[in-house]
Amino acid sequence: MGARKLFSDIYDVKMRHRRVDIFLNRNCNLNCSYCLVGEKNDRRISLDDAKMAVDLLFESKEKKLSLDFIGGEPFLEPELIDVVSEYAYRKAKQLNKELKIRFTSNLTILNKRIQDLIKKHNLMVDVSLDGVKENHDSRRRTKQGKPTWEVVVKNIKRLNKISNHLGIKYVYLFSDRDVKKNLDFITSLQPNDIIVMEDINLIKRKNKVRLRNNRLKIAEWFIEYIKKNKAVPHLIEYCNILKTIYDREVLGKVVPHSCCSAAGQTFTVSPEGKVYGCGQFLYLDKNDFGKISKFDSVKFKMYAQCVEEYSLTNNECKKCRMRDYCIKCPCVYRNFVETGNSFKHTMEGCMMKLIYFDCCKWIISQVEGEDRKILFSFLKKYLPP
Ligand code: SF4
Ligand code: SF4
Ligand code: SF4
Repeated sequence: MGARKLFSDIYDVKMRHRRVDIFLNRNCNLNCSYCLVGEKNDRRISLDDAKMAVDLLFESKEKKLSLDFIGGEPFLEPELIDVVSEYAYRKAKQLNKELKIRFTSNLTILNKRIQDLIKKHNLMVDVSLDGVKENHDSRRRTKQGKPTWEVVVKNIKRLNKISNHLGIKYVYLFSDRDVKKNLDFITSLQPNDIIVMEDINLIKRKNKVRLRNNRLKIAEWFIEYIKKNKAVPHLIEYCNILKTIYDREVLGKVVPHSCCSAAGQTFTVSPEGKVYGCGQFLYLDKNDFGKISKFDSVKFKMYAQCVEEYSLTNNECKKCRMRDYCIKCPCVYRNFVETGNSFKHTMEGCMMKLIYFDCCKWIISQVEGEDRKILFSFLKKYLPP
């Protein structure tokens, strides 16, 4: 029995993945101050490994699937993108599945070849842009130290003409002076989604007060935005948790929020062809499930079971204020970083969720009258991506 067959057997019991993240390469034309990729080199995933990653995605029983390309800078690999996207769409058609292909890119390269690929494969692009010029250019520079903001903004405007989707990823550092100004600028570019991420290295319990204050500032901006624009900003993490609160408190539906994809919803495949449950482990080069060509399904099964059982029995959850809103899966990556053991609970990962949760509760309490109606009617229809 091959690894593929074993995997299918396990899927029937445990697997519910909807997405595979393929790290195409370790190469990039930029040198951002907070980059997690480390030393850049010419390493790229082999075509065989990339196709196997696509095969793994299509072993899911889910109807709607997502293939995400990450790097390095994925647009440095146009040939690979073309062949793998074509392969994935062919499989989607054969198996009658819906497929979205997404990219995270620095969007400094948008030549004709890349534009044609975006149009041909209907690619969804999430662009890394850290707000206004002085903020972005303070850390997102080329290898030669040149600023990139102008070219990225120009390319976003060109992208808007050829694609139906624009996501913007903003890495919010503690040193950022004016988060509201950055978010105002980002929304002026009319993205479909905004993803605000903190530099993962700064997410430590000792930074809790600053993290809370920063997220409160974003919540404040969120409220002001609704009041001023009579619309809800698509700030993904906030919208996801607001939706969970709305479903439970307004509709009486219990659909616990999951922000963790390591419990079987996502796979990550590295440029070396190794499989991980969570992309953060890839940066540590730890806790992989072996090469995709020899996928270690037994190890994966044990891991998925551990995550699930651990989630169900975790004592911290019983007394947690988020217990009725959370899938009770603490961040296994954070546990690992703090204790060396993915299943030794620390509140580091939960702290992140709890701060979001408190901010979202506060948003709901502050939005009244007509503005509350606008928020609730948005949440009623909102589908987390
Ligand atoms: S664009 Fe991404 S991969 Fe490239 S240096 Fe910046 S953070 Fe790293
Ligand atoms: S383990 Fe942590 S970092 Fe990884 S997907 Fe889950 S919540 Fe995110
Ligand atoms: S936030 Fe953490 S402690 Fe609270 S319910 Fe979720 S997993 Fe459990």
